[in-house]
Amino acid sequence: MTTTGADKALRVVEQATDLPLDSHLHTDLSPDSDVPIDVYAASAAERGISEIAITDHVDFDPSYPAYAFADFPTRERVVREAAERWGDRVAIRFGCELTYQRRFEADIRDHLARHRYDFTIGSVHIDLDGPYIADRVASFVQGKSVAEIVRPYFEEVEAAARSGMFDTLGHIDFVKRYLTPHVMPDALAAAPELYEPILRALVDSGTALEVNTSGLRQSAGDTYPTTAIVVLFRQLGGRSVTAGSDAHRAETFAFGLEEGYRVAAGAGFRSLAFRRGAGRLRVPMPARFRT
Ligand SMILES: [Zn+2]
Ligand SMILES: [Zn+2]
Repeated sequence: MTTTGADKALRVVEQATDLPLDSHLHTDLSPDSDVPIDVYAASAAERGISEIAITDHVDFDPSYPAYAFADFPTRERVVREAAERWGDRVAIRFGCELTYQRRFEADIRDHLARHRYDFTIGSVHIDLDGPYIADRVASFVQGKSVAEIVRPYFEEVEAAARSGMFDTLGHIDFVKRYLTPHVMPDALAAAPELYEPILRALVDSGTALEVNTSGLRQSAGDTYPTTAIVVLFRQLGGRSVTAGSDAHRAETFAFGLEEGYRVAAGAGFRSLAFRRGAGRLRVPMPARFRT
């Protein structure tokens, strides 16, 4: 299954309404967001998004922006108190997005052993001293194949998938954002074999794959990952997907999420994977996605 121009024209890339869950959101307890939690809650109530997971950044590398930005007790208190305030209108869950780096795997494992979250996303972000930063990426891609270009990022993502520490793996090809215009997203979509080790690691470790819709509003112009990769995940035995808008601004709450659900449904998924602190569970998709 490939995404054609006609499919793209049908995409619903606006703020969604009437969905059961947005499982990836950043409040002002993340260094790159300015949104108070009540703004998301009010927007969710107004738009008919019945459940949200607050997933502020948790970084372990001292050079990363969220390192020591907001401590666990503060994040937990703010989210739990908001959950109390909004409980009769919106279910608010306490999650986090942990930046995965192989060299900090032991620290992440230790953090997760000591702290209870409702739901966890593991994500690989872009190292400031790595090859994908703006003034370096043009020379880095020179003379390299797509496989060589994505390797540093994808190897880290594969290790994150294999770690089995997370409920879901966030935006697995977020590197697309940093590679355009040097390497366009279509070049990655045309090389699904590059994703296979990551997808197999997710299957082996029982970790869900996230359909992250923030790419729809960024230079990538597509979900992270694209539909064909979600289809391949299912073919390889993947049974759990999540969907999140990864909003950092009030106006991007639930943005593109209708499309994210469609991508998951188009790959054959009938529910989204989630956790509310205890065991893993499934949130059924609304009937309009069951084609
Ligand atoms: Zn992220
Ligand atoms: Zn995020």
